[in-house]
Amino acid sequence: MAGSEAAWAAAKAGLDVVIYEMRPRVATFAHQTGKLAEMVCSNSFRSDDSEQNAVGLLHWEMRAAGSLTMEAADANRLPAGGALAVDREGFSQFVNDRLRGLPNVTVVDEEITALPGEGHWIFATGPLTSEALGRAILAETGAERLAFFDAIAPIVYADSIDMDVVWAQSRYDKGETEEEQRAYLNCPMTKPQYEAFIDALLAAEKTEFHDGETATYFDGCLPIEVMAERGRETLRHGPMKPVGLTNAHKPDEKAYAVVQLRRDNALGTLFNIVGFQTKMKYGAQTQVLRMIPGLENAQFARLGGIHRNTFMNAPTLLDGEMRLKSRPNVRFAGQVTGVEGYVESAAMGMLAGRLAIAEITGRRLPPVPATTATGALVTHITGGADAKTFQPMNVNFGLFPPVEGLKAGRRGRRDRYKAYTDRAKADWQGWLDAGA
Ligand SMILES: Cc1cc2nc3c(=O)[nH]c(=O)nc-3n(C[C@H](O)[C@H](O)[C@H](O)COP(=O)(O)OP(=O)(O)OC[C@H]3O[C@@H](n4cnc5c(N)ncnc54)[C@H](O)[C@@H]3O)c2cc1C
Repeated sequence: MAGSEAAWAAAKAGLDVVIYEMRPRVATFAHQTGKLAEMVCSNSFRSDDSEQNAVGLLHWEMRAAGSLTMEAADANRLPAGGALAVDREGFSQFVNDRLRGLPNVTVVDEEITALPGEGHWIFATGPLTSEALGRAILAETGAERLAFFDAIAPIVYADSIDMDVVWAQSRYDKGETEEEQRAYLNCPMTKPQYEAFIDALLAAEKTEFHDGETATYFDGCLPIEVMAERGRETLRHGPMKPVGLTNAHKPDEKAYAVVQLRRDNALGTLFNIVGFQTKMKYGAQTQVLRMIPGLENAQFARLGGIHRNTFMNAPTLLDGEMRLKSRPNVRFAGQVTGVEGYVESAAMGMLAGRLAIAEITGRRLPPVPATTATGALVTHITGGADAKTFQPMNVNFGLFPPVEGLKAGRRGRRDRYKAYTDRAKADWQGWLDAGA
């Protein structure tokens, strides 16, 4: 996805492009063909609503920028209500025909196993980056900055948390500044609430790993349901331990268990549920998580999950132009940079392509506005996200700088999203008009 889009942008700008694609010589467990832009699982690009949905807005921005992914998707669209679903074979064939039909594009079926020292490169090797290249990236970045599985804890929109129930406090008031001492939001549970929560967690439907995908869990990132299976009290001694915390609303009541949330972005619009990585199915997950006091009306920017997924700690490794800080002739794009999803990956490929073109042709691009879907995503992965808890992210409105003067909470949501998308479209068009 990302590689095809980057190659398209560069080739359309008149540059010579070589695409290295290891398939079909080197297979992955998920891909079935040797074609570019293969959709490995669902055939959907999700919502196409560019007024009320962040991924729909990303479609809009990509179409405005002449994206190949969007052209191929529109040409192979299937009826799917408000979603953009496609005929996967037709989609992939379209991308292949277009790219291979350009005289300045060469496709080489070869695996790349090292990070090159010269030339302009975009690495868009995805969640199933080959083992040899994974080792080369690891050697460059250090083991703690490249992950082979994601372990995603659910992320909640700040304005959907009930602040009359939760309170801000770090365990034992740890931290030098007042901000650090109040860095966590705490959701208190009584014993009956905890018992009911454990029952629901054990009963909830879980997803299985894909064929060929296996996970050996690190003890530090066990799914909560696996912890609960080990014993009913395990969570109370792990991520739900109540010690070192005093309920600001009811100082005399000692909580039996506490669920903690930690800020997930610099804007303070998103909070992750600490230590709550899970393989519960999405429907079950929302039901179980809304049993947590203070999260009864929680809206989720992303639900939890655990998958095979090679991704780097982009906030520490990449500069604002998606270049590897230690090797600036190499850009990274797509899922390997910690975005999640076909559309997000393609969008980051499109952007990396444009940034590379500008650099090669000696032009200076204005920064991508952080108020656009593309800009919000790249800002998140190259510095906006908390590097310590960085996990792959879908595009969502929590990544956007707030529009001032609008009603918070659920009731103002439609107006708020419309304001975000109106602002994004104007700013994106402005960026394109400025020569991007
Ligand atoms: C099992 C699975 C199911 C998924 N389901 C969905 C879904 O339903 N919806 C969704 O939106 N997203 C899904 N994803 C995420 C999906 O992979 C990404 O959203 C998207 O394909 C990523 O795009 P990308 O361009 O970053 O990587 P890819 O589309 O995976 O492209 C990377 C390419 O690089 C090639 N490559 C890897 N290493 C090398 C190398 N060393 N040398 C040369 N070539 C190499 C690969 O063969 C591949 O063609 C799924 C991921 C997996 C693993």
